[in-house]
Amino acid sequence: MKSGIETTMVAERYARMSNEELIGQVTLNAAGMTPEAIEIARKEIVARGLNPRLAEAVAVQNREWTEDDIAAYCDLISKQSCPHCGKNDSRLNGTESAETMSFLLFTSFKRKLVVGCKSCLNKAVFGALGKSFVLGWWGIPWGLLRTPQSIFINLNNLRFHSSKTHNECLQRFVTAHRGELAAIDEDAFDWDVLDLS
Ligand SMILES: [Zn+2]
Repeated sequence: MKSGIETTMVAERYARMSNEELIGQVTLNAAGMTPEAIEIARKEIVARGLNPRLAEAVAVQNREWTEDDIAAYCDLISKQSCPHCGKNDSRLNGTESAETMSFLLFTSFKRKLVVGCKSCLNKAVFGALGKSFVLGWWGIPWGLLRTPQSIFINLNNLRFHSSKTHNECLQRFVTAHRGELAAIDEDAFDWDVLDLS
């Protein structure tokens, strides 16, 4: 972004965004923004009186995260109450569920990172396993190919639900949500700021 005209256009684009759109831009889509665009977004955040940590979220997505950064956020997340059942009697960890469902004309294959207590992780994986087992096979050829793949992913991840340390899925979850996490106030953690869908 070299010219003043482009800078003005970016500033106008951000100014037209609703608060929600601006927050989405800086927490989810900031990777690859130029330093000038980051500065414009930062000013817009300050001008609107939004959470100043959002400006940090922009910066975070534009630098490499170290293993220590990821470990620190894994630690923060693992100490929260489970986002699914609300219990806080155990450390949280992650999993990935894989679900294959075949319909008349197509086969859907969905993989999803899930964070929660052990029993909710089991529930997510067994739910995906059951659906795939019953509904996956009928599609040719994708149902036949994706169903065993889904079964393998679910069974494989099941082994890490009791992991004493942060498992790989939790680390991938943190990396995927790093923009949103950087905007979180660590002393007032709220699952609502993360898109868990
Ligand atoms: Zn739970």
